[in-house]
Parts: sequence; structure tokens; C-alpha cells
Amino acid sequence: MMSIGIAQNKKVHEFFLFFLFNAKNEKKESLLMNILIIGAGGFIGSHLSEELLKRHTAWEITAIDISNAKISHLLCNPNFHFLKLDILKDSLEDYIEASNVVFPLAAIASPSIYVRDPLRVFELDFEANLKIVKLAVKHKTRIIFPSTSEVYGMSQDAEFEEDYSNCVTGPICKQRWIYSCSKQMLDRVIYAYGIRDNLNYTLFRPFNWIGPRLDDICNKNNGSSRVVTQFLSNILHGDDIKVVGGGDQIRCFTYISDGIDALIKIIENDASSKRIINIGNPNNKCSIKELAEKMLALAKEYEKTKFNAERIKIVEIDSNDYYGKSYQDILVRVPSIQKAKGILDWHPKVGMEESLKKIMDFYFI
Ligand code: UDP
Repeated sequence: MMSIGIAQNKKVHEFFLFFLFNAKNEKKESLLMNILIIGAGGFIGSHLSEELLKRHTAWEITAIDISNAKISHLLCNPNFHFLKLDILKDSLEDYIEASNVVFPLAAIASPSIYVRDPLRVFELDFEANLKIVKLAVKHKTRIIFPSTSEVYGMSQDAEFEEDYSNCVTGPICKQRWIYSCSKQMLDRVIYAYGIRDNLNYTLFRPFNWIGPRLDDICNKNNGSSRVVTQFLSNILHGDDIKVVGGGDQIRCFTYISDGIDALIKIIENDASSKRIINIGNPNNKCSIKELAEKMLALAKEYEKTKFNAERIKIVEIDSNDYYGKSYQDILVRVPSIQKAKGILDWHPKVGMEESLKKIMDFYFI
């Protein structure tokens, strides 16, 4: 096993790169892979790493992150190589060069941070990731990049389609859109590199992926996490659940195992090259108010949350009071998944109730 902090030890670091380069060259002709996951310690990265190690036991995973808290259970796998590096400070060029595929998953994806610290979102999600994209072009490494359902913004389409729907954002003073714009610009840059330099890319667009390890629910602050984990945190702490603007806004929640299944099919399937693909579950279409009701009802079945769930209420809150004036909501967000079905032969399997139960089992048992 290559250990934590490997990059700090020059000799071990050089040996590791030599090993990766060899692996890349040896495996070029076969179906084996060197996969680089930047941001492997995050929600999607940790689940992707776990599943890749299970399904592709001969593949090498190089996992880069500033923290390994969510992947500590994988560190002893001989095919999993964790490097504690910071994409804002450290060069990743050697690792990108040595890999067949790179997943740049390090990004901020919480609306509360878009409004609270928009420049941090720009620096990490846009600037740092642009460098990675350019290195993938330079070294001809395949890039599987997380775009976002946020790029469709306030599109009026009943279902968002990758190649037809408009990307609709609000005025500059609504800072919420910095994430959407950062990701949209990267989508456009990657697409242009695909045409000009034949960059081998896939842009995937997650629609409200949820699951264990999504956010830290011990953090009590409102808006510190995404809606499902925010509601879990409210329930855990005995605080009323706040539905912003009345809670009629619609989301389609996608269980993480379905999302990861799609990502692995993207790696395995060359037909996904130079495509933009929505990964969402339109069957799990749910208003935020319905979500709050479902979660509160389910929480009554857990010893840990029974007492609080019997007592707390669902209350309405104005978005200005909750997020501040630079927030603007998206009222309906539903994916078309025709492309994912056609290209990847993928369809989501985990329903809403089952998803919420699995998440509550993880956080409350
Ligand atoms: N929301 C809410 N109460 C909360 C947190 C979020 O009503 O405590 C709403 C939020 O305004 C948005 C939806 O839930 O309309 C989903 O929010 P999330 O942060 O998960 O991300 P989004 O889907 O907007 O990217």
C-alpha cells in the first residue's frame, strides 16, 4: 500500500509515479486502468472509489484529497493510493499525466456557500479545475467531469435536456449563480477542447444526489448543508424544519448508488465520449415540503430521533431570511434521462422512500 502523505517523501513519491507510468503504459493495450480521483474524500469521490475497488479489482485508484476521513476504510486496499494534496496549492501534473482517466471531483456544491463565499467557489470550482482540464488536454488523459444540474438554472423546460435546454441564470447581485456560471464556463471550455484538441471528455450532470456521507449533520447551522442533510440535522438537534419560500419547489433526488453506477458505465463505455449526460432520477420527483413530511414521518421510526420527530414542526421561511438577499431559488428541476438510458443502458433503481431509509439508517443507527 502507498501510504498517506506519500507526496511529502520525495523518494517514495518518485517511486510511486514510476509505478503509475508503468501501469499506464502496460495497460494501454488492455482494459485495465489507472484512475485518478481528485476530491476522492468527498461524497461522490468516496462512493466512486469504494465501488470501483469492488467491481474492478485490477484497476489502480489514485485518490487525492486534503482529507481522508470518508475513505479511511479503503486505505488498506493495495490498489488504492491516497495522496494528501491540496489542488489549490500542489501541482497534480505528474498524476494527471500518469493516469488513463481523471475525475476532478473537488468542488464546493452547497448553495449556502455560493451566497456566503462566492469567490471561494470561483477559485476552487473554476480556477483550480480549469488548470486540471488544461493538464488533461496536454497529456491526453480522458476527463470525466462533474458538470451540474445547476447549469440549467431557471430554465422553464418541464424536463432539462442536455443539448436543447437553455441555461438560465439571474442577475449578478444574485450571487447564487456563481456556481452555475463557473460550471457552465468549464463545460463550454471542455466542449471546445474536445473539438479543437480532440480532448476525450464526458460531462455528467448530477441531479440532487443523496446518500450516506453527503454532509456532516452534527453541524447545527441552518443552510450549512444540502436539503436532505439539513433536515436530518434539524431532526437530530430537535429544531423545526424550515421550508424555504413555502416548499413548493421541486427536485428529483438520486440515490448515490445509482449515480455511481452511471459513472462506472461512463468509464466502461466509449460511446459516452464527448457527451453531456444528465444523471438523475425523475421518478423521485418531490416538493421540498413533501420531502420534509416524508423525512419527519420516517424519523419517528428511529430510537435516536423518535422524541424530536414527534415534537418538531415544519415551518415556512422567506428565502431572504434563510439565505440572504443574494439567493434565488430554482422552482422546478427535472432531468430528461433519455441520453443516459440510450448511451449507457442505465436507469435509476432506488426509489425515494428506500433512499431516505438508507440514509437515515446510516446517520441514525
Ligand atoms: N431548502 C429548504 N430548507 C433548508 C434547506 C434547503 O427549504 O433547510 C430548499 C432550498 O431553498 C432549495 C431546495 O431546498 O429550494 C434544495 O436545496 P439544496 O441546498 O439541497 O440544493 P439545490 O437543489 O437548490 O441545488
